[in-house]
Amino acid sequence: MKNIYNMTIEELEEYFLSIEEKKFKAIQTYSWLYEKRIKSFDEMSDMKKTVIEKLKNTFSLDRLKLIKVERDTLVNKYLFELYDGSLVESVLMRHDYGTSICVSSQVGCNMGCKFCESGRLKKVRNLNTYEMVLQIFAVEEDIKERITHVVIMGIGEPFDNYLNVTNFIKVINHPKGLSIGSRHITVSTCGIVPKILEFADFPYQVNLAISLHAPNDEIRNKIMPINKVYKIKDIMDALKKYYKKTNRRITFEYILLDGINDSDENALELCAILKGLNCYVNLIPYNETNNIQYKRSKNDRILKFYDIIKKNNVGVTIRREFGSNISAACGQLRSKKEEL
Ligand code: SAH
Repeated sequence: MKNIYNMTIEELEEYFLSIEEKKFKAIQTYSWLYEKRIKSFDEMSDMKKTVIEKLKNTFSLDRLKLIKVERDTLVNKYLFELYDGSLVESVLMRHDYGTSICVSSQVGCNMGCKFCESGRLKKVRNLNTYEMVLQIFAVEEDIKERITHVVIMGIGEPFDNYLNVTNFIKVINHPKGLSIGSRHITVSTCGIVPKILEFADFPYQVNLAISLHAPNDEIRNKIMPINKVYKIKDIMDALKKYYKKTNRRITFEYILLDGINDSDENALELCAILKGLNCYVNLIPYNETNNIQYKRSKNDRILKFYDIIKKNNVGVTIRREFGSNISAACGQLRSKKEEL
């Protein structure tokens, strides 16, 4: 049985047409699901009994099983168990501008970035659209507030799960869905070039972030195996095309790893490759984990790196740190049961 939160509005319209009902029932259904948050199809009081029966026989309304919540001052971390026993995590962050959630897109990840905890478990499977939508549902219901911003930066590589991720964006952006503004949604990728090009034609104004983390192929090859497939130049060429089509500013994420990618020269190299692109750099102080040997750059190094970029007129920020007390920070999420 299909989970109804998997359905985009177009798919639901097609469904209603297929059972010889009017397609506006799709919008009606969305209101019941996303505004009224029904627990049973019987609650749909403006729907004929026969239609309710058909919905019941076709779709489930099952939610995710929330098995653990850890709470810190501005951050909560949620652990979910999926239908097949797989585990994923989501992180809620409170900002002065609203509440954001970091959503996972896969169980495990195949990208193998050397500094990242999440990828120590190889990809088990892609998350379905509903499994991403329902992460937001569960968090909203826990905090009794609406989520205003979504970043697809949890476990997994979203562009390795392109269709489900773009359908997820359609569902959460729809005014009768979760109604999260497209400019409040960010997809982060390690740089899967064909998907960046495809994403340029995806007609939603969502933000794109690229996990670059190195200013040249030599360093990037060492820390991100995906760079052996798509080189920095390939990514930059794809981004130029992306920008031409979308006119949307691109974010580059750059983790600062002590002695690996954080020298003055590296900062200058980074500015050189970003030249002429409408973008900004988000410097990420590395979150150390027990299992990985990389170290966070020293604070004065982080500031010097920042200054060099700034002086070269490239927009730059240092990412505010969240959640490391409860291992909810970037790269610390994991899907492994034995570590619970
Ligand atoms: N696969 C996607 C999204 C998940 S990772 C991507 O690569 O963008 C989200 C971000 O956290 C990425 O920029 C990733 O490189 C970064 N990250 C991973 N491990 C980290 C760590 N230990 N400390 C800080 N950032 C980390």
